[in-house]
Amino acid sequence: MTAETIKDKDILLEVKNLKTNYPIKGGFLQRKVADVKAVDDISFEINKGETLGLVGESGCGKSTAGRTILRLLEPTDGKIIFDGKDITKVKGATLRKIRQDFQMVFQDPYASLNPTMMVGDLISEPIRNYYRKDGKALKQEILELLMKVGLPEDAYYKYPHEFSGGQRQRVGIARALALRPKLIIADEPVSALDVSVQSQVLNLLKSLQKEFDLTFLFIAHDLSVVKHMSDRIGVMYLGGLVEISAKESLYEEPLHPYTQALISAIPEPDPRKRKERIILKGDVPSPINPPKGCAFHPRCKHAMPECSSIKPQLKEVKPGHQVACHLYN
Ligand code: SF4
Repeated sequence: MTAETIKDKDILLEVKNLKTNYPIKGGFLQRKVADVKAVDDISFEINKGETLGLVGESGCGKSTAGRTILRLLEPTDGKIIFDGKDITKVKGATLRKIRQDFQMVFQDPYASLNPTMMVGDLISEPIRNYYRKDGKALKQEILELLMKVGLPEDAYYKYPHEFSGGQRQRVGIARALALRPKLIIADEPVSALDVSVQSQVLNLLKSLQKEFDLTFLFIAHDLSVVKHMSDRIGVMYLGGLVEISAKESLYEEPLHPYTQALISAIPEPDPRKRKERIILKGDVPSPINPPKGCAFHPRCKHAMPECSSIKPQLKEVKPGHQVACHLYN
């Protein structure tokens, strides 16, 4: 087997030049007047069994990227290759079949679970729909899943409102696992939970990853959470990916000025390791009319003349560490 085929075999998800625009309509006829460039030309890969974290401020496009990859939103351009198949345009029965292999864990488990259904039915629903299974064997399968996510057997007969936030998220995770997916996209899965239960849910996801051989795209705004979960991390700003690397390299030596500012804001309990916090000037510009050149240039203290006219492309400046910034040309 050549190095190329080994490499190909390890990639579960490949995103190439993905763009997702939201149309803005206006006027009497509600015609499209502009586009929000929510995801603006991002490319990355995730290897089997790996966790790629996607971070950035709220509105940077990370959730839209996750939903587009799952084909819950239509991509405007680019390609999504999942397990060697181009799924960018698949529809109908083919899309339904592929959907078994990728599932989402949502930020707000309460909003994503039907409040009128018992937990046992909520978790078994995808299995009944896909495999037409029912009866005792299915119930046993659900009871085992409940146990694996740390819920007692009697949770089967309860309704979502009878659980705490952390327990509801465990139900959401069990439902996502029901079809034995290959990829889970977790979109801010702990940001709605009390800090005291966040680490329990994160550790649960990590142990399930090993047991079920899962690959994760882990989306969050909290860099400490992403650091805990991820093998590699991509940083998004205004719809674009500005830096991507192994987590050690990103946290120890962030290259992009935006990543440097984000990392400088992480609270450091050890006063000897504390670094000066970088305060960014101004607000994130509108994704309807993003700045020309580098989208970060109006806020960047290192901005040079070319930054306002030439868009920097992601390029590898250290092994496995890519950055989109003219400082590294
Ligand atoms: Fe700053 Fe220029 Fe780098 Fe953008 S390309 S981050 S403006 S130095």
